[in-house]
Amino acid sequence: MISPARLPVVIKRLEHEYGRPRWQPRFSPVEELVFTILSQNTTDVNAGRALDSLRKKYPVWEQVAREPVESIAAAIKGGGLAATKARYISGALRGILADHGDLTMEFLNRMEDKEAVSYLTGFTGVGIKTAACVLLFSLGRPVMPVDTHVFRVAKRLDFLGAGATRARAHRILDAITPPADVFSFHVNLVQHGRRVCKAGRPLCGICVIEPLCPSSIAEEPSPPWPEP
Ligand code: SF4
Repeated sequence: MISPARLPVVIKRLEHEYGRPRWQPRFSPVEELVFTILSQNTTDVNAGRALDSLRKKYPVWEQVAREPVESIAAAIKGGGLAATKARYISGALRGILADHGDLTMEFLNRMEDKEAVSYLTGFTGVGIKTAACVLLFSLGRPVMPVDTHVFRVAKRLDFLGAGATRARAHRILDAITPPADVFSFHVNLVQHGRRVCKAGRPLCGICVIEPLCPSSIAEEPSPPWPEP
């Protein structure tokens, strides 16, 4: 496994290339939870449309928790796998409402990161990535969501070691990433995975972290990267 001491250099190079994104909440915690469930096996665009449709039909989230699963499925049918996602959404919202009396999810502010992840992943259909998205994107907590791009790039960079699962990747990246850099590193790994370190053939010849990557297939190594 590559030395975690190289990680700050990777973070810096990615920020030099893509910028250092500034965190601001895109959704409330309950919206982030529902959106992330809706985004399973579909694009963010489709998930966003399904979320808008659900919000239009039920302007108050507590209403969703009281609705039959079939009605939720009808409202989100544009997002794919509607029956399954409706079941997940209904189960999570009902559970949170029963446990905490409302869906503000303010209780998360009183929980440590690990406790919050453990609570959220107790609901069917809420995996560690979904829990991490809620904590990072809506609350700015330093918990790394490992999606397909983050997993692939981190694996190629040999940050995860052989045979690491997604669940283990979450633990490893949380442990080695400085908390202040988690948001930036997540966003930039996704950018890098989409634009350069693609799932098929990675574009190692134009990769700004190529000199740090043991999986490079560049025919000619990149020149040393100038320090900013
Ligand atoms: S050198 Fe290639 S494999 Fe390594 S991070 Fe860059 S694009 Fe991905």
